[in-house]
Amino acid sequence: MKIRNGFVSNSSSSSFCIVGVCFDEDNETMLKNILSIVSLDLEQLVEKFSAAGCECDIDRKSMTKKEWSFCPVCQKQLFKEVDKYQMNAEIAKKFRELDLTFFFDGYEYYLGQDIGEDNIRIEMEKMETTTNKLVELLGKGTVVRLHHGEYEY
Ligand SMILES: [Zn+2]
Repeated sequence: MKIRNGFVSNSSSSSFCIVGVCFDEDNETMLKNILSIVSLDLEQLVEKFSAAGCECDIDRKSMTKKEWSFCPVCQKQLFKEVDKYQMNAEIAKKFRELDLTFFFDGYEYYLGQDIGEDNIRIEMEKMETTTNKLVELLGKGTVVRLHHGEYEY
């Protein structure tokens, strides 16, 4: 959990409490592992949720993001950034089918069971079930903790 400093006047914040695993947004290996549980592929998701920045008729597939930032024809930005909000919503939808919460707080990903306000009466038994489920899905060394924090939206 990271605490965000500063204050943005026109945004709201919400607190969350999740029993589960947490990993940094840069941890691509972990993200790929987690996506494979619900048969999702990171490259496909990134492609689906990043639209081209310009609309020139050029062979985009042969241009990788690292090599080409700007369109050789119109000089506009060639690739738009990935719409992470939409991408994460699609991932979360898949995990809801497994009765798991997938969540991004702006810095880190979480996968587990939401025991926030709506689910405050969750039983210890359910926390144990969630722990067992995550260990089964992610392997023996999986560390399941109680994560609490706030995010802005
Ligand atoms: Zn262009």
